[in-house]
Formats: sequence, C-alpha cells, structure tokens
Amino acid sequence: MLKKKSLRDAVVAAKNVLVRVDFNVPIDQGKVTDVTRIDGALPTIEYLVEAGAKTVLASHLGRPKQAGDPEFSLAPVAEVLSEKLGQEVLFFPKASIVDDEVMQAWEDMKPGQVMLLENTRYDEGEEKNDPALAKKFAAFADVFVDDAFGTAHRAHASNVGVTDYVEEAVAGFLVEKELEFLDGALEEPKRPFVAILGGAKVSDKIKVIKSLLDKVDKIIISGGMAYTFLKAKGYDIGTSLLEADQMDFARDMMALAEEKGVELILPVDFAVSQEFANTTPIMTDDENIPAGMMGMDIGPKSIELFSRALEDAKTVVWNGPVGVFELPNYATGTKAIAEKLAMIDATTVIGGGDSAAAITQFGLADKMSHISTGGGASLKLLEGAKLPGIEALSDKENA
Ligand code: AMP
Repeated sequence: MLKKKSLRDAVVAAKNVLVRVDFNVPIDQGKVTDVTRIDGALPTIEYLVEAGAKTVLASHLGRPKQAGDPEFSLAPVAEVLSEKLGQEVLFFPKASIVDDEVMQAWEDMKPGQVMLLENTRYDEGEEKNDPALAKKFAAFADVFVDDAFGTAHRAHASNVGVTDYVEEAVAGFLVEKELEFLDGALEEPKRPFVAILGGAKVSDKIKVIKSLLDKVDKIIISGGMAYTFLKAKGYDIGTSLLEADQMDFARDMMALAEEKGVELILPVDFAVSQEFANTTPIMTDDENIPAGMMGMDIGPKSIELFSRALEDAKTVVWNGPVGVFELPNYATGTKAIAEKLAMIDATTVIGGGDSAAAITQFGLADKMSHISTGGGASLKLLEGAKLPGIEALSDKENA
C-alpha cells in the first residue's frame, strides 16, 4: 500500500547510508531522561549494522541559540546509543557538524560501524533547507533513510533537501509503521471508523475536524474544545475554555456532520471546578455548567455515551485528551476512554502529543495498535495534508 520505497526495498549491504533519526530527546544535566525515541530508531539502525552498511545518523535536538551550544549537543545520545548497540558510536562534538576530521573518520569507518553527527540545527541552513548543507549531508549517502516521522511535516536540509543529492531515499522502519497505521486508517479504514478529538483548542484542529468529517462514521469532540461547540448550541458553559471567534465554525461543522450523516458526539455532563487546579470535582447533571465554574473533565454519563459510541468501532483515531488529565482528579474521563480503547477489537491509532503521554501514563501503551511518535506530523496527516518529508522519498517502482 505504501507508495514510497522503504528500507526493505533498498540494497544497503556495504553501502554508505545516512539516516535522519529523531533523537530530539529530553536531556537533564547531560543525561538522557527518556530513551523512547532512541529505542524507536533501533530497528532501522540494527538492520543497517547487520547488513554491513556504513551508517551515519543525523538529528536535531531542541532549539540551539548558536552553533555549538553545549546545552543542545547530542553527546549524551551518543553515549546511550553506544551502550544500546554494543559498539562505540563515533561522535565529534563540533559546532560545524561536518569538517575534515569528521570526513576523515568517516573514510576510515568499517562496514557495520555507526557515526552520529552533531545537532543538525547547529547550522542555520538546516531550517532554511539550504542546498549547501543538504549536499554536506548527502556526501555520506548512497542511500538516504528517513526514520524521523516527528519532523516529516517540515522541509529541512536533513530530511528534504538531502534527497535531491542521493541515489535513493527510503522510509525507515519507524516511518513505514507510522504511515501504515496513520495513512492506512485514513485511506482504507475498517468501519465503523470513529475519531476522538480533544485537547485545548478548536483553532488548532479546524482542518482536522473538516477533513475527518469526510472520512469517519462518528466524531467525538471533547476536552477543552467541546465548550465552544456547546456554547454554540446554547448551553451555559460557565468559565470553561471558549473561543468565541470559533462558534460559527462549530455551528458549520455540526451542520456539515448532519449533512454527511456523520454522528457528531459532544459530552453531556462534566466534572467542574471553580479554579484550574486539582480540586475536588463537582459533577453537573447535564451539559450546563453553573456560573463561575469551569469544565475540567467529562462526567460519568459522557463516559458511558462515548464508550457506547466506541463499542462496535473497527478503527479509532484519537487526538487530544478529553479532560485536564495532568491533574489526577480530572484524569478520570481520559483514563476511561483509554481503557475502552484497550478493550475493543479495533485498530486503535493514537495521534501523538498529549494523548500519547496520557496513554503511557496509564500504562496502556502496549494495548494500542499504534501510538504515533510525531504529534505535529500526525495532525498534518489527519488534516489531509501531504508531509514534505514523505513526499521527498523515492517512489516504489510498481506503485
Ligand atoms: P492539545 O495540545 O490541543 O492536544 O491540548 C492538550 C491539553 O488540553 C492538555 O494539556 C489538557 O490538559 C487540555 N485540556 C483537556 N481538557 C480540557 C478542559 N476541559 N479545559 C482546559 N484544558 C483542557
């Protein structure tokens, strides 16, 4: 189904391979505090090591203010990676990323060895997609592998520019899996197909709502975004999150859903609080929220309603928590939805970002079919947009 070449389609034995990975990991006092993204890239790297490729890895890390900014060096990642691969990963902490010493070390590399380059954002050309920098990266590659789904929605030198100067550009195993699930869910969903959208703002998800109304059978709108819809329907929402300028849009979407025969489901009761804090929840009887109170989570009737809507689902895409799950007293709704998804016999795809964090927090990550590693990129796909990082890859011959 994937129209782009994957690592499986490329000959990499004894070849020079450059891999764009996503090692944008949290670092505290020179130590990596969450290795999830490093683990995510291991299947691709280990495959290349075993194939005897000469592998160079490139990644950005945070937002360095200037070249060589030590706070944003990938040195701690090189350390973790060396341990995980059981070989010393070559690494040169250089503001220039690539220089004569790096090139010489690369010339001397043996098949199966791995080098990690310094933070791609040390060079201003990275975010400008500068051809000069792209050529420097391409010098390491007969084959370019993109395994950084989290950056696929951006056109930078190390993921898009570089593809102009290599023989072949293919998707790594992580990117391949992301596309299989995210694109698969959107292009050929098993039905009923239900989307759950939550999170803080309607304005962030305008295009997603519009695009999904063409694809889903049911759409659950919850979290902070629901109150704008409820207000547009005439309910009292107290001091809950409101984007008054999006009320017309909300009305349009409710009308469009009806026109398309898509069931648009909003919460019917809430756990509310006087302030945005981990207070003792007060439950409402219905959609109306008393004056001076704000909706923080969905209530039991909404949990029941959403659970019923999910009961027979065969494909579910979830983006955005249904309540303020970071506050333990208001995580109930989000947890109940996560537990429901863990139980049903459906392809469950979690769109990264906060919903992924919530699922991990509840210990349910391994019960989902797929948790995206790229919040921004998966949101773009849900919007129906093309991702420049994916578009730039080589097409499959028979696709
Ligand atoms: P997003 O980044 O748009 O997915 O938004 C995620 C954020 O939405 C999380 O930090 C949640 O705490 C927040 N959120 C969810 N429900 C509500 C709510 N009822 N009121 C305010 N914020 C909420």
